[in-house]
Amino acid sequence: MPEFVRPTASEGVVAMEDYHSPQIDVEVRLNTNESPVAPPEAFRAAVVAAVAEVSWHRYPDRAATALRAALADAHGVDPAQVFAANGSNEVLQSLQLAYGGPGRSAAVFEPTYAMYAQIARTTCTGVIRGRRDADHRLVRDDVLALVADEQPTLVFLCSPNNPTGTVDPPGLVADVVDVAAGYGGLVVVDEAYGQFASTSTVDLLAEDRPLAVSRTFSKTWAMAGVRLGFLLAPTWCVAELEKVALPYHLDALKQIVGVLALQHGAAMDDRVADLVGERGRVAAALADLRVTVWPSEANFILFRPEARSGGDVWRSLVDRSVLVRDFTAMAGIEGCLRVTIGTADENNRFLEALDQILAWPLGEVSEEPATEGA
Ligand code: PMP
Repeated sequence: MPEFVRPTASEGVVAMEDYHSPQIDVEVRLNTNESPVAPPEAFRAAVVAAVAEVSWHRYPDRAATALRAALADAHGVDPAQVFAANGSNEVLQSLQLAYGGPGRSAAVFEPTYAMYAQIARTTCTGVIRGRRDADHRLVRDDVLALVADEQPTLVFLCSPNNPTGTVDPPGLVADVVDVAAGYGGLVVVDEAYGQFASTSTVDLLAEDRPLAVSRTFSKTWAMAGVRLGFLLAPTWCVAELEKVALPYHLDALKQIVGVLALQHGAAMDDRVADLVGERGRVAAALADLRVTVWPSEANFILFRPEARSGGDVWRSLVDRSVLVRDFTAMAGIEGCLRVTIGTADENNRFLEALDQILAWPLGEVSEEPATEGA
């Protein structure tokens, strides 16, 4: 037997760390920006009824005709301008498979959603890193100069931005799109949290504009478990994405579930309104504590504890069975934590725990052992 030589994954993959949000068994889970409540009862009942109609032995409709028509209708676009995929992460991956690759690059403005750069590695797409200002806003001149100088094939903007909650002004997005239009670049605005925000770039979509807007059913629609996301884009862009998607990538049940969800839009809008209200309440309460807090238009809030270290506060929250996301090591938001807006009870648990922790004398640390996973 020859000696066993273990195959190595490609260079980009070997150098990569897994992207995942550590899960810990706690009572109050506010770390992954999910909806705190399940989708409406009437929707779930409709799904149960629809399951009986699924043709399990047949491949699904490859073009996802009904789902794309329903999404197009909901957003005032043509079905040929809609690409649907398994979560918006798959949308982002499809964009990089189609438009990225060796010799091409994607621009990101950090701190931002880490998957843009992560997927760039697996697709051998170069990454051009711009930065946001101290309040996590895009700096107009810097962004326009970077795009004009570097001419990235893809420009990823995230609005509201994860993990900061910042929205990008549509006027600035429009100007970035104009620059990209001059050299063949495509601007992708990730609006995974778009329904929680006061602005959107969907209205800017046009066949002669290199702009694509990505959205998801995971947050507003309370369907993170289903894995369904979509892109609204010019028809020429959708046509390229269809080529890189695997045949029948969207299963039959998911297509039905997506259509049914859109029929319960009013109930979903009520939930968004509730969460936006809770966001205001949590933000106001945080402003009274010894933390720095930034305005957010998403279903989460970024904050930095002032009197105690972020890592210490994170562990002390876990000790009180409250899990938030630890961003203390991320460049640009060092020391920060991100809390997802939950139910009123969950938010109260978080705020009470944080209040207690921050009320401790300066320098005092938790005596319980640190919990793994930060
Ligand atoms: N974009 C952003 C900004 C996100 O925060 C997330 C989820 N964390 C996604 C995309 C992906 O969401 P999904 O794949 O569940 O649609």
